[in-house]
Amino acid sequence: MSESSEQQKVEDVIIVGGGPAGYTAALYTARANLEPLVFEGFRWGGQLQNTTDVENYPGYPEGIMGPEMMSRFRAQAERFGTRFVTDDVDRVELSDGGVQKVFLGEEEYRAKTVILAMGAEPKRLGIPGEMELGGRGVSTCGVCDGAFFKGHRVLVIGGGDSAMEDATFISKFADELTIVNRRDEFRASKIMRDRALAVENIDTLTPYVPLEFVAGEDGKLAKVRMRRADTGEETEVEATGAFVAIGHVPRSEVVAGQVATDEDGYIKTEPGSTRTNLAGVFAVGDVVDHTYRQAVTAAGTGCMGALDATCAIRPPRSRHTGSPAASPPRSRSRPAARAGALAPAHSYRRPGTQKRYLPAPCRLSVHISTRSSTWTCQTRSRAARSACSSGCAGSTCGCVRPAATSAAATTPRASTRRRTSSRSGTRSSAPPSRARTGAGATSTKR
Ligand SMILES: Cc1cc2nc3c(=O)[nH]c(=O)nc-3n(C[C@H](O)[C@H](O)[C@H](O)COP(=O)(O)OP(=O)(O)OC[C@H]3O[C@@H](n4cnc5c(N)ncnc54)[C@H](O)[C@@H]3O)c2cc1C
Repeated sequence: MSESSEQQKVEDVIIVGGGPAGYTAALYTARANLEPLVFEGFRWGGQLQNTTDVENYPGYPEGIMGPEMMSRFRAQAERFGTRFVTDDVDRVELSDGGVQKVFLGEEEYRAKTVILAMGAEPKRLGIPGEMELGGRGVSTCGVCDGAFFKGHRVLVIGGGDSAMEDATFISKFADELTIVNRRDEFRASKIMRDRALAVENIDTLTPYVPLEFVAGEDGKLAKVRMRRADTGEETEVEATGAFVAIGHVPRSEVVAGQVATDEDGYIKTEPGSTRTNLAGVFAVGDVVDHTYRQAVTAAGTGCMGALDATCAIRPPRSRHTGSPAASPPRSRSRPAARAGALAPAHSYRRPGTQKRYLPAPCRLSVHISTRSSTWTCQTRSRAARSACSSGCAGSTCGCVRPAATSAAATTPRASTRRRTSSRSGTRSSAPPSRARTGAGATSTKR
């Protein structure tokens, strides 16, 4: 293993993922002088590299092209000292409050905290024309692109909740909309299905399987070639818009088995926070979110992740005691803090009260008001507090282990006012060319 000083160093924060969530986390941690190291992935920029106009990101009244927007996100993070590595992380070794390790091949990078921002990928049909006509009539995001299809004849392909949701949304713009499904029955929940099928301009075509997206003379989608699933008979359906709505795959493979995920592979975080089940490990953006999946929501959680990580690294000083607020009373029975060990939460007791409070920058999850022998609860909810008392493992209610809390505070940063010394990247500080990104077609949307 190569052991350069760069790799032996324990970074304050490593961010994995270079989409809206990762770049926003980088911006905030860079402005907090944490000099983040971002593994932005070979396909830096994320999903927006595969689209054209983005018209729903606040601050761009005229709209902006997806790749240009991501270059701006990146440049803004770089301006404050972010370092980038334009490669995919191969492996991580996550720890509960200890040193987090990230590997590029055999090269090891270490950090006190890691922010996971690997995003998600829409599932694709894998048929001819699908990638080539991306941004020219074929899309995978109804909420993002539906408004570009005013007055069009549109197909939505899929039979689950995503398809019903996309169809209902796009029907507000399209003249005619057909939901195409490979089975006669729809997998969607009854409520979603009933809502979609009640819309006047929505009809269905089943059981049909799309075979090819076919371009017209103008190079944009003109029709879709299909096969009837039961008879094998082929047909062509005219359409100038087609939305593939067959679900998403979170890019959590690199942390699989190490951090808590749901059954679909989305990383679980505490409600209202970006904390995972491991102290010092935070998760943001589409790798967590199977509901909203927008650039602005990904950026929002990126900001949250940065604040959570900053708070874990640099416990705020208590106004009342002048000492780091995260320091709970030292106890001989508590394990000695490991180098780089962190607390998921920091609290202090206000003089004259029995309540424990989170100091201001950490006050993301309100008062700590219940302590049980094994768990500390950070939520107002009475139900969650009682779950905490019985030891709910912290997965849903924001409970944290006091032992982890105690390990925290003995390692405050030597200098929290340190200024960034170098703004150049470890490997690459200039954005790589689009050719390297492997990004898809970027021609004008309809
Ligand atoms: C066709 C399309 C059009 C869209 N249009 C819009 C729109 O108009 N408006 C809008 O708000 N949203 C839009 N979206 C949704 C938006 O792109 C996503 O919600 C947003 O990009 C999610 O951001 P993210 O940072 O969480 O993840 P992503 O954008 O998915 O970025 C994740 C990044 O992490 C990298 N990565 C993954 N694994 C690793 C690894 N092991 N090591 C290093 N890096 C890794 C990936 O390469 C990628 O660069 C669109 C999506 C699509 C697919």
